[in-house]
Amino acid sequence: MSLDRYGRNINYLRISLTDRCNLRCVYCMPAEMTFRPRAELLQDEELYRLLPIFAGLLGFSKFRLTGGEPTLRENVVEIVRRIAATPSVQTVAMTTNGLLLNKLAAPLADAGLTRLNISIDTLDPDKFKQITRWGDVAEVWDGIKAAMEAGLQIKLNAVVVRGFNDRQDVIDLAKLTYDFPWQVRFIEMMPFGEVAEFQQAKTVCEAELLALIGDRLAPPILLNQGQLDGEARLYQLPGAQGCLGFISSVTQPFCAGCNRARLTADGKLRLCLLREQELDVLTPLRQGISDAELTQRIEAAIWEKPWGHGLAEQQIPMNRVMSEIGG
Ligand code: SAM
Ligand code: SF4
Repeated sequence: MSLDRYGRNINYLRISLTDRCNLRCVYCMPAEMTFRPRAELLQDEELYRLLPIFAGLLGFSKFRLTGGEPTLRENVVEIVRRIAATPSVQTVAMTTNGLLLNKLAAPLADAGLTRLNISIDTLDPDKFKQITRWGDVAEVWDGIKAAMEAGLQIKLNAVVVRGFNDRQDVIDLAKLTYDFPWQVRFIEMMPFGEVAEFQQAKTVCEAELLALIGDRLAPPILLNQGQLDGEARLYQLPGAQGCLGFISSVTQPFCAGCNRARLTADGKLRLCLLREQELDVLTPLRQGISDAELTQRIEAAIWEKPWGHGLAEQQIPMNRVMSEIGG
């Protein structure tokens, strides 16, 4: 078990498999993004060496692959297989833009992936193109269908941007829960690095979305007495198969219950999504550190995990944009 100094049990590792992406969502990265040379990224063998350290020695049981776009990583299916086969690992999930799932959903499910979060901010093809700078929403739909056929549990993620997808798009996405047993999640936009100013001006809060949905469809019913499912507060539309999730990291932080650590694509352990503090894991790995010494350093870093973010005090992480950390 890995405890931090506030008594939180940190057992959930999100691994960014690449900083690259086949889209350029406006809230995630600038249009002219420079990616790191591949040699600077954690290689497959380096990742495989870390797995028993995190899962076995440090007690991590839940793993999520993200990016950039994780499906762009060459050996993504084998990576999933290796994680799923590591003793003590209970779940292997992935967050993806879905563009390559048509081809990859079945092999990923065979390799041991159980859950997929697929990002789709609007069902409107023109708006989708605008927000992703060139994406085709029909390809995401094909990916979602392939994921369903492969038997994967599906959640949809939509980041809501004021003045862009905060009205009819929210309604169209919420209506999907009438027909499908999915969790459709609305995410408050978070500020990072160079794109922080845009993000802060355009964040839309949960209360506003609930009022809109209540007005246009029906008042959503709060589930689980408001207890969070991971980071999402759940609601359901009367008669719906699926449910609505609200991830309100900015206006209603859930830092007290945070159980996460993140491994960036360039091998840094980031202790809080919205704080700059990181432990370099890759450099000592390449310098030949022993498992025991590395475990000790990671334990010490986890102990010092920051209590929470400082957005209310205007403390915005400037050293990376979202695509480099993975959400
Ligand atoms: N490329 C994959 C995808 O889009 O699902 C995985 C990486 S992406 C960084 C992970 C999640 O973070 C996505 O659901 C995305 O919408 C979300 N995201 C990106 N930038 C964000 C921001 N500034 N605030 C909140 N969520 C953001
Ligand atoms: Fe790529 Fe995902 Fe970022 Fe969009 S949110 S640019 S798909 S990494």
